[in-house]
Amino acid sequence: MTALNPIADNIALIQQHIEQAKTRFQAAQQVTLCAVSKSQPAAAIRQAYEAGQAVFGENYLQEALAKQQQLNDCVIAWHFIGPIQSNKTQQIARQFDWVHSVDRLKIAQRLSDARSAELPPLNICLQVNISEEASKSGASGQEVLELALNIKQLPHLRLRGLMAIPAPQHDLDLQRDQFRQVHALFEQLNAQGLQLDTLSIGMSGDYQAAIAEGATLVRIGTAIFGARQPKPANDSDLATKGAV
Ligand SMILES: *Cc1c(COP(=O)(O)O)cnc(C)c1O
Repeated sequence: MTALNPIADNIALIQQHIEQAKTRFQAAQQVTLCAVSKSQPAAAIRQAYEAGQAVFGENYLQEALAKQQQLNDCVIAWHFIGPIQSNKTQQIARQFDWVHSVDRLKIAQRLSDARSAELPPLNICLQVNISEEASKSGASGQEVLELALNIKQLPHLRLRGLMAIPAPQHDLDLQRDQFRQVHALFEQLNAQGLQLDTLSIGMSGDYQAAIAEGATLVRIGTAIFGARQPKPANDSDLATKGAV
């Protein structure tokens, strides 16, 4: 622990809380910590990286590309977790290792077309919308099987699992109720032979509940980096809807 790198302290604390949640809820799965660095400067990512964190999530393409360039000496797994506009699919497919926010076949096709055959397949999570009205993004429970089966056929993608952002709740049981529905959907897809291994659920305010319900990857921003800066007005991604 060093006062010089509070980001390192926060990561250590969250890793501890993840282990505690696994013990408390008898959750045997491995849980990957994805550090959500949207609106944080490259220097903050570097501090986390120097503390051993190598998985980062970004929401805005232009912002992410600029930071990737500043960090090109680091071995980082980059996860795209923001809403995807179809004119951004080319660069997303080339510059990221994972995309969590796929909710339409058209976007998946474009990502597959743009992914270079020399790179490993792009890892994909389907974003699902369990609490239908809470968020505009995400495929409904009924759409998701057909979408998953279609994506499974695309040559340069590897379908890994589901991602969800349920409505914020403060009560652990209410948080768990929502995540349980995502987990049930995940199990249904696996019963259809889809072989999914990634359940991307849980953020700073609810990751313990997500772990209780089977999260294999939690996406944590503010609990690591502190409050986010407002986005600069000249950012070309500003038009992107659904910014959190
Ligand atoms: C911003 C964001 C997060 C991180 O949220 P925190 O509450 O800061 O942990 C996780 N997932 C997605 C999709 C996000 O947009």
